[in-house]
Amino acid sequence: MDKSEISELFHSQLEAVFKTFNYDAAFLKCLNVNNKEIIVNFPVVLDDKRVEIFTGYRVQHNNWLGPYKGGLRFSEEVHMEECKALAFWMTIKCALHKLPFGGAKGGVMYNPRKYSEDENRNISKAFCAAIYTNIGPSLDIPAPDIGTSSQTMDWMVSKYQELSNDENKLNLGCFTGKSVDCGGSLGRNHSTGLGVALTIDYWNKHHKEFIDAPLKTYIVQGFGNVGIWTMHFLNQFGYTCLAVGDHTGYYKFNEACDGIDIELLKKYNADNRGLYNLETSPLFKCVDKISEEDFWKMKCDIIVPAAKELQITKDIAQNIDSSCRLVAEGANGPTTADADALLFERNIEVIPDVLCNSGGVVVSYFEWVQNNSNDHWSLDLVEERLTKMLFNTCDNLFVLKDQYKGGFIWRKGGKQDKYSNRTLAYKISVDNLFHNKK
Ligand code: NAD
Repeated sequence: MDKSEISELFHSQLEAVFKTFNYDAAFLKCLNVNNKEIIVNFPVVLDDKRVEIFTGYRVQHNNWLGPYKGGLRFSEEVHMEECKALAFWMTIKCALHKLPFGGAKGGVMYNPRKYSEDENRNISKAFCAAIYTNIGPSLDIPAPDIGTSSQTMDWMVSKYQELSNDENKLNLGCFTGKSVDCGGSLGRNHSTGLGVALTIDYWNKHHKEFIDAPLKTYIVQGFGNVGIWTMHFLNQFGYTCLAVGDHTGYYKFNEACDGIDIELLKKYNADNRGLYNLETSPLFKCVDKISEEDFWKMKCDIIVPAAKELQITKDIAQNIDSSCRLVAEGANGPTTADADALLFERNIEVIPDVLCNSGGVVVSYFEWVQNNSNDHWSLDLVEERLTKMLFNTCDNLFVLKDQYKGGFIWRKGGKQDKYSNRTLAYKISVDNLFHNKK
């Protein structure tokens, strides 16, 4: 993948909303740059006593609404351009719900699957030490993303507390997505997937003008935190998963099987660190391995990209089966700009990432509030507040959709088209940023 493609994607999305709604150009200039871009190189002693140097990043995009907030990604593919795009999307995502946070993103360029648990702990702590002066509960609050988990956050919190002599553990809000034992919120681990499932279901039930018949079947790319919990809750809400894909391949659940046992699939995934050879497992008799090309062409009502960015390209968008009515972006930036335009032309609804996968940052906000006030909310309360916030933002978007029906947007190259859900979601965010700037 060309590293500049992801920058072009978010710059074009931002430019589209500014040109469409004629915002002040000075305001666009501010959002087009990052407040701070940090690169750190730090040594870690490995199990065999060798010293390896790791490179980490933290990009702080904008803090008009409050402290920076955004995930940490551990992957060989992490690079500065990716962090910049993801930090920008966090600014938009937080502003969409009027959360008192700005946008940030970071990561370490390495593959945690290739290292032992001790090594991963030491890398996490060393990275925390390297960015220590730039983070904190009222400055910048990291969270999990690809390749990181509540365990990673727990390691980093302990390092942060050690460095800040925080014996009374008053600084728990310096990271979110921690385990519950370490001060995390009930419900944070599954919140992104629950949010994806809730927005899909809300769209399905409340958006009759765009979805003519009830949606029932779906496919999901990515079987990590977001993909697993999206599938868990969609199945609970009565939807049927027809296929799933991860970095090991794509697997179709044939009609002979009466739904897939998600708990068994989760266990298989954890035991095998992925869905390797799922089709040969005696535990899953109804699974066939398929090509990635065939996966995207499958007949289904809903497609959930929940792996990583730039997965749905123009070619893929062209070949998506006409039975598909909805693309729900569980991942950040999974659709290229060309593909997005094509989905729009093909009248396939897109729930944009900044709304669809925002359940995670909403519950991260709840975790931060609980930590700062030494409070503990029940799971019911967390889920009730999450649902309310997501549905309220969906309603705001539906109102705008209605208001601008038949309107036109500016698109790169001067082409005009109707307003997309993404452009309208960005309008809500940009308005909130402008009116609530501190
Ligand atoms: P994860 O590391 O838990 O899982 C990623 C999944 O994607 C894995 O199943 C992996 O095998 C799969 N994958 C990776 N490369 C792939 C490829 N080339 N083809 C097919 N599958 C591939 O990560 P996650 O936390 O589930 O995050 C997934 C996406 O959701 C990312 O875009 C992330 O930024 C976004 N997101 C995550 C959260 C969160 O709370 N974890 C919140 C909002 C958005």
